[in-house]
Amino acid sequence: MKLLVTGAAGFLGSHLCETLLRMNHEVIGIDNYYTGSKFNLTAIIDNPKFELIRHDVTFPIYLEIDGIFNLACPASPIHYQKNPVQTFKTNVHGAINILGLAKRTGAKVLQASTSEIYGDPEQSPQVETYWGNVNPIGIRSCYDEGKRAAETLFFDYHRQYDVDIRVARIFNTYGPRMAFNDGRVISNFIVQSLKNEPLTVYGDGNQTRSFCYVTDLIEGLVKLFLKDNVHEPINLGNPAPTSMVDVAKEIIAMTNSKSELNFLPLPLDDPKKREPNIEKAKALLDWYPKIDRSEGIRKTIIDFETRLNGIKNGL
Ligand code: NAD
Ligand code: UDP
Repeated sequence: MKLLVTGAAGFLGSHLCETLLRMNHEVIGIDNYYTGSKFNLTAIIDNPKFELIRHDVTFPIYLEIDGIFNLACPASPIHYQKNPVQTFKTNVHGAINILGLAKRTGAKVLQASTSEIYGDPEQSPQVETYWGNVNPIGIRSCYDEGKRAAETLFFDYHRQYDVDIRVARIFNTYGPRMAFNDGRVISNFIVQSLKNEPLTVYGDGNQTRSFCYVTDLIEGLVKLFLKDNVHEPINLGNPAPTSMVDVAKEIIAMTNSKSELNFLPLPLDDPKKREPNIEKAKALLDWYPKIDRSEGIRKTIIDFETRLNGIKNGL
């Protein structure tokens, strides 16, 4: 198939492009490099089956393709909050443009949605039927409500125009190649531990998240895309919740770091807990995460160590 990946130069997008090329598909990647980088695509940039286009999804694009993975959108709170209007446009105008492209070409289209659509959830674990608890006017709303509006558009294009949609609700995913300045918790804690700097724990650190390793997540996205007739949202994540204090201590121990914990104010509207119910993904896709947190974090630490040493050595 000829597949389009938006947000191709980002963390998940670059891993996804590599996987799709390994499966022998042709891949067109588009990105405006807001948080992504061409360096993430070093391994595939010269592959004749890969093409990279600088483009912002808030503007229409005309391509002939068979399928689309719509990943374009900054995912880290510090980045999506820097320009909230652009974040909302990326989610909403971006979805309209990408769905229009899918409608014109008849391409199947997968949306990278998020556990953030559940907001600060009042029930845990979160099942796909839960409608969420979201502040519509807070500092996270550009992302949460943007992603919710995008889901609305996906289901309306499906009902009104019969566009073949897939909606993946992705829970916190981490792994090699996250940017040093990404700002999300695992990358922050690894960089801080490796530099023996204090780990920035927000609030009392008792809030929980469930962390999924990148290869597991990408396998889930591809399985969902390939499965026929799944016109309902599917949670993808690793249902093993942990507190931020415990993650901080795990990473300090795994890096033999001298770092200590530095407790800082909790950002506004920071969800207290998050845990996916993945029964639907298991039943429909035969998908479940295989890499546990200690193995995933170990692999991620090795990647960050290698890249930091490369910088130190001027590579
Ligand atoms: P990322 O920030 O590394 O990648 C996003 C990519 O989209 C970047 O390359 C960025 O430059 C690009 N981009 C942003 N705005 C764009 C625009 N207007 N036009 C074109 N490109 C644009 O983030 P990620 O972790 O790789 O996330 C990828 C997708 O997965 C996002 O849509 C995110 O919301 C979703 N998601 C990720 C996670 C996670 O934990 N990683 C969780 C839930 C959902
Ligand atoms: N967090 C933290 N220290 C950091 C970065 C994040 O304690 O340096 C916390 C953050 O407040 C949140 C959790 O870790 O409770 C996960 O944050 P992240 O930005 O990774 O993802 P999200 O909030 O979108 O789940």
